[in-house]
Amino acid sequence: MKDSVEGLRAAVVGEVITSADASYEEISRTVVAEGQPRVVVRCAGAADVVAALKYAEAQQLAVAVRSGGHHGAGTGTNNGGVVIDVRPMDDVSVLADGVVRVGTGATWGQVAARLAGEGLAISSGDTASVGVGGLMAGGGIGWMVRRHGLAIDQVIAAEVVTADGAVRRVDATTESELFWGLRGAAGSLGVVTSYDVAAVRQPTVHFGTLLYPWTQADQVLAAWAEYAADAPEDLTSSLQLAPTMMADRQVPVAVMVCVSGDPAQRDAILEPLRHLGTLLTEKVAEVPYAEVFAEMHMPPGLRPRIRNGLFDRWSPELGERLLAARPEIPGLALEIRALGGAYGEVPADATAFAHRDARFMVNSVLMGPQEQAADFDQLWEELAPKGAYVNFLSHPTTADLERCYPGAHRARLDALMQSIDPGDVFRGPLG
Ligand SMILES: Cc1cc2nc3c(=O)[nH]c(=O)nc-3n(C[C@H](O)[C@H](O)[C@H](O)COP(=O)(O)OP(=O)(O)OC[C@H]3O[C@@H](n4cnc5c(N)ncnc54)[C@H](O)[C@@H]3O)c2cc1C
Repeated sequence: MKDSVEGLRAAVVGEVITSADASYEEISRTVVAEGQPRVVVRCAGAADVVAALKYAEAQQLAVAVRSGGHHGAGTGTNNGGVVIDVRPMDDVSVLADGVVRVGTGATWGQVAARLAGEGLAISSGDTASVGVGGLMAGGGIGWMVRRHGLAIDQVIAAEVVTADGAVRRVDATTESELFWGLRGAAGSLGVVTSYDVAAVRQPTVHFGTLLYPWTQADQVLAAWAEYAADAPEDLTSSLQLAPTMMADRQVPVAVMVCVSGDPAQRDAILEPLRHLGTLLTEKVAEVPYAEVFAEMHMPPGLRPRIRNGLFDRWSPELGERLLAARPEIPGLALEIRALGGAYGEVPADATAFAHRDARFMVNSVLMGPQEQAADFDQLWEELAPKGAYVNFLSHPTTADLERCYPGAHRARLDALMQSIDPGDVFRGPLG
């Protein structure tokens, strides 16, 4: 009884879902992956997480951890194991001095909406339904990354349940090594139940899109990269190139911008972005920060390939190769995000996220039918980026993971995982 599903049900405050429950199918799947776990434990608090881990250990079942369910590798579910679903832990409360305690089951849309009334904001991601748990696990590149760094850079403490069933509060002085690892590799170390984050006062930002003709993609990309690399930190921007399978619609090149900081300075910061080519339209307006989040609707059944690379500088060769790849791989969607600024001011060894010299992230998604997967992977072989971001990898290879956690970072993480999770309970990206 003690180690049975009934025993688990009796032990937790939250719900235990099995294939006998009507909600099983919906609750077992993530955005990209169908799963058939033995049980899903919808955890109401840390004690439920402890109970779920005990059950998994007793039954010798694999564990998956799920928050918003958006990871492209589908790691938020499994087959035959236990899914620890943190979504019921979605409380967002403002403590003292702008510190916000965020439950890892909240989505970033919920967090932003809750903080809007207080004029507070956390630089997180760009999509409302992405979960706090998964985005924080890998780093978090948001619309104010150049002004405030990664989402993990604002974390001052966390509560985490580790493989031994201990509930630990960690920060820069208490269990500092675990605190280091959680900021960039949390999925391999435990189940974080909440983060304490130093929010910033940022009621509004200037946010929107400038469109340029798709025929000017080379010129616009080069000029944007030149400005974006050393632009004021208040500017975070990205450049989006739609798949050429949509070229009959002549999808323009989109430069997306978020300008924070002093409203009086924002127009001057935007001005150079109006002269990258022949500007078609500019739709940039002052909006509450909570309105910058987009919603994502993935076509059912689509499991796209997603790969990315981090680059320390822009080069004409990189731009040329990316543009040449677009007609070769018609389903290739490209998004190039400018980094630098506050992101680069954090010492490289301060967190498990390594790549503080990177100035650009090239992210790519293979849309539509996946027949060109080999060409897509070949492109990345050629690009051979120095670094990669673990949250934008759908089919991570050993080489990809070495790029995410290179050299000394990997050695330090391996030692930490060995001491904190010697049985490899957490099958995060590093297993
Ligand atoms: C449409 C879309 C837009 C995106 N935009 C951005 C963006 O702007 N910036 C950015 O940085 N990323 C972005 N991402 C990537 C995103 O950060 C990752 O996909 C992330 O894993 C999603 O988090 P989740 O909680 O929704 O995912 P889940 O699939 O629920 O979680 C992914 C993994 O994270 C780990 N994890 C989750 N919760 C916890 C926890 N409580 N404790 C420990 N580990 C945990 C587990 O290993 C889990 O399998 C985007 C992804 C999508 C699909």
